Amino acid sequence: MPVLLSIAVSTPAHSTLGSLLSYESERVLSPGTLVRVPLGRREVLGVVWGLADEPPPGVKPVSSVLEGVPPLTAAWRSGIEFAAQYYQRGLGEVALAALPPQLKDLSAEQLARRLKRQRTETPECNFDATNLVATNAEQTLAIGQIDTHPGPHLLFGVTGSGKTEVYLQAVARMLARNPQGQALVMVPEINLTPQLINRFTERFGAEQVVSMHSGMTPPQRLQSWLAAHSGAARMVLATRLGVFASIPHLKLILVDEEHDPSYKAQDGARYSARDLAVMRGKIEGATVVLGSATPSLETWNAVLQGRYQRIDLPERIGAGALPTVRRLDMNQQPPKSVIAPLLLAAIAERVARGEQSLLLLNRRGYAPVLACHACDWKSDCPHCSAYRVFHKIDRSLRCHHCGHAEPVPRACPQCGNLDISPVGRGTEKLEEHVAELLAQTKRPDGSAVRVARIDADSTRAAGELERQLAMVHGQEVDVLVGTQMVAKGHDFRHITLVAAINPDGALFSSDFRAPERLFSLLMQAGGRAGRNALMSEKSEMWVQSFYPQHPLFAALKAHDYPAFAAQQLKERQAAGMPPYSHQALVRADSRNQQAAQDYLQAVLEAALLVPGHEYITIYPPVPHPVARVANVERAQMLLESPSRKALQRFLSDWRAHLHALRDKSILRWAIDVDPLSI
Ligand code: ADP
Ligand code: ZN
Ligand code: ZN
Repeated sequence: MPVLLSIAVSTPAHSTLGSLLSYESERVLSPGTLVRVPLGRREVLGVVWGLADEPPPGVKPVSSVLEGVPPLTAAWRSGIEFAAQYYQRGLGEVALAALPPQLKDLSAEQLARRLKRQRTETPECNFDATNLVATNAEQTLAIGQIDTHPGPHLLFGVTGSGKTEVYLQAVARMLARNPQGQALVMVPEINLTPQLINRFTERFGAEQVVSMHSGMTPPQRLQSWLAAHSGAARMVLATRLGVFASIPHLKLILVDEEHDPSYKAQDGARYSARDLAVMRGKIEGATVVLGSATPSLETWNAVLQGRYQRIDLPERIGAGALPTVRRLDMNQQPPKSVIAPLLLAAIAERVARGEQSLLLLNRRGYAPVLACHACDWKSDCPHCSAYRVFHKIDRSLRCHHCGHAEPVPRACPQCGNLDISPVGRGTEKLEEHVAELLAQTKRPDGSAVRVARIDADSTRAAGELERQLAMVHGQEVDVLVGTQMVAKGHDFRHITLVAAINPDGALFSSDFRAPERLFSLLMQAGGRAGRNALMSEKSEMWVQSFYPQHPLFAALKAHDYPAFAAQQLKERQAAGMPPYSHQALVRADSRNQQAAQDYLQAVLEAALLVPGHEYITIYPPVPHPVARVANVERAQMLLESPSRKALQRFLSDWRAHLHALRDKSILRWAIDVDPLSI
């Protein structure tokens, strides 16, 4: 008598099919077993979720069982169930997306061959407890706290305060205590954090550590996944996708730079890996440590409410002081100055001393728009509601939303005027301008100053980022111009001046999280300066602003994150914004903006039929801030509730209406729970 199993498979998005399907099997398979099953005309990977009771008509048998791969644990499955439910996605979709892509393509026989080559026994941990760095009093306390208290913990300390050393020793303690224990170490972006990875592999040996990130090839990802799943890898270093990795003996989860926006997925299930890490810790009984110098306000609020434990690392190691923050009032500068004379002099002085400067500008390209002064032509993108950016380097107009690129026209396409010119300033133009301003400045050996730029454009080719960073480390660059990309993670030993060229935009942005991001970016960028204790006396962070008295800059000058957070939280509370309320965004895409909004209006009206709708505020549908991208019109609708539970319950019930009301004019719709940008 065959048994009936309920199996998670990835059904097409928005299909009416549920994602737990029933199949027959000759024998009982334990939950978590990987199988291959027929679905339509294909054979797909599935995960056994349990027993099913009623056979649907025409039930099919399981095609094969992936022997040799131990079943996924109950804790892993609970984590997947939680994520699917919380982020309003199909269980099968989330479960299957969490597995390495290659697992889906290999037949049972191919996998068996792969497994034969895979090392599955746990290597002897060659970690020698005697080579530990002697920790300072705060670090010792922190490691003890993490070791004895389940958390979640916030490890709060500026760049250079010794957080990484705490991570390393907390992992060492956990490993010493648990012969099979495993740790998950999460980082925002792998190529921006090479130092962290190196320190883990140096300390514990490369054979103990696997990494997981989207830049790996499918075979590499499968290999890492199997090593973690079998327990052979004791440490998993991963970007956000690693939060779903199968780590059966998970005891410790570290989330470095927990405030970083890249922990939030921007498509598919749109999950927050930081939030899921906390939930996963709870489910698995693993200790969770979130590390940051500028925690997200959600995390800080959890600390203030006593839900998370705060651990402080108040000082920089080796007496490396934090940089002196200097606010430059741009109202007092000669008109049209891009770089104030005082700042320029400070940069020139550093060049002459053989020290480096970092100039931050969060806008790539040469100029954000090209305009004709005779008529009102501007370099719009024909496919998006956005301007195309002027890139001087290859004389192109490029849309940063859809990628549409064209050579710069010789004359105005509208009136034929030859005098079309760039408006505004991006990193390319800043780089050019700085090189002109410093043309007479000499380095200590009398040679000419070298200005370089690092941003998404300069680092597009494979290996370019590494090459350019190596040039900075090798002091082949005197002045580095860059976007936020360079402000993160790197340990630049010779930078003694960091300057924010034009940070004011974030002070008055319509995005209520913009100040939070700016503060953390500037703190992090400031942390780049003065990491070399010998030079730190002189290290400075300059901020050019028309609002130098703004409380954000005052808090920055005092290196006072708690003051900044208190002020922001007060504003958020007064306005009823997160973390004092909970939000979800419904997005709809269509060829026609009106159709997208009509659809949202219809689902809004359907909300009145859903129990509990009275606890939810639903704002009317509006166009997305960039309404059209690649000829697709986008609309969105914001939901807010003081209660996370009420919002969750409402969304689960309401979701059926989003399915039902969708017609052909809607290309896709999605719910973004806890959206980061609105
Ligand atoms: P963070 O991760 O907070 O930026 P790190 O752990 O990288 O800080 O520490 C900053 C620097 O100080 C590193 O070079 C590290 O090797 C060193 N360091 C950390 N802890 C100690 C210690 N207890 N004694 C000596 N040096 C330390
Ligand atoms: Zn014109
Ligand atoms: Zn475009």
